[in-house]
Amino acid sequence: MENIKIRDVRTILTAPEGIGLVVVKVETTEPGLYGLGCATFTQRSLAVKSAVDDYMKPFLIGKDPQRIEDIWQSAMVSAYWRNGPVLSNAVSGVDMALWDIKGKLAGLPLYQLLGGKCREAAAVYRHADGRDRQEVLEHVMALREQGYRFIRCQIGGYGGRGHTLHTPEQALPGAYFDPAAYTRSVIRLFEFLRTHLGSELELLHDTHERLAPIDAVRLARDLEPFRLFFLEDVLPPEQIDWFRMLRSQCATPIAMGELFNNPREWLPLIQERLIDYIRVHISQIGGITPARKLAILCEAFGVRTAWHGPGDVSPVGHAANVHLDIASHNFGIQEWCGLSERLQDVFPGCPQVRDGFVYPNDAPGLGIDLDEEQAARYPCENRLPQWTLARLPDGTSVRP
Ligand code: MG
Repeated sequence: MENIKIRDVRTILTAPEGIGLVVVKVETTEPGLYGLGCATFTQRSLAVKSAVDDYMKPFLIGKDPQRIEDIWQSAMVSAYWRNGPVLSNAVSGVDMALWDIKGKLAGLPLYQLLGGKCREAAAVYRHADGRDRQEVLEHVMALREQGYRFIRCQIGGYGGRGHTLHTPEQALPGAYFDPAAYTRSVIRLFEFLRTHLGSELELLHDTHERLAPIDAVRLARDLEPFRLFFLEDVLPPEQIDWFRMLRSQCATPIAMGELFNNPREWLPLIQERLIDYIRVHISQIGGITPARKLAILCEAFGVRTAWHGPGDVSPVGHAANVHLDIASHNFGIQEWCGLSERLQDVFPGCPQVRDGFVYPNDAPGLGIDLDEEQAARYPCENRLPQWTLARLPDGTSVRP
């Protein structure tokens, strides 16, 4: 269609579940034609809002929304400095909205534009946590009862909880954890779960980059007998060179990438086949345009996708994940946190989960909308997150 222009770009911030979500709405000169994109960076949502409203909007007004690739390439370098989370999320919000618009123009759901269905629905994994092993087991069995066959198992949240901590006098406040006690509890947890559940259920675990590199290598090796579907974020992005050693030590499948911003972070891991699942946060790398290319790159190296899907992705972002899942041959698994009724009221057209599979909405584009009146009922509070203030027992500040 000729002569369509972008006429407005704005952010909508909403927190139906207390987690700040950032959605970008791109409106066009065609009456009623607009797109939505996810730009959620919960911990810095106002910075993303400014990046969109103050910088992306003047950059985009008057441009042809159909030129997604050109807009993505030029937007990523328009600030000269690039590959940072705030600006990449801003570009993602716009990029997803442009794909949404393209689908609406074509009258096709996004997965059709990406090549069509490779499968009817995407298998998801859910999270099971608990204060002790028995509680985790009960949670896992309840999810299995609901039809889930892939379950991520944590004990006491990331890094474990409830260990006796030996801390110095006047230790600073923070989210304390003991890496050694955590590691012991994880190994005992999976021993216990396999004993009670057998070998059929697929079990996963997220280390959340909580361990020193050599301890992470040892944990991956010690978990090998329990046949995890994958071990997530066992090392931080700053220590990716350790993946070579980890790979040489064991065959525990490795998932990595939710903190990645820069292609230089994922390229060596894919090229050297050091990971099995790429699980970037799609808005964090700049949206559907780079995610689609990343999935295709991974396919050539036998790496599967497992896009990040926590509560701090908006339902618009979840919809984008699901369209990519459906259309990518090398899809592996989709993280799923469950979308509450409140979220579904704010975002009509959410992807639906049945019997452990998520189904995309077949409406044109991303197939999801945003009820702005409903969204306004749940304003974002600009709170400082406490869980990111992680500390070791001696008081040292560490990665959360
Ligand atoms: Mg994770």
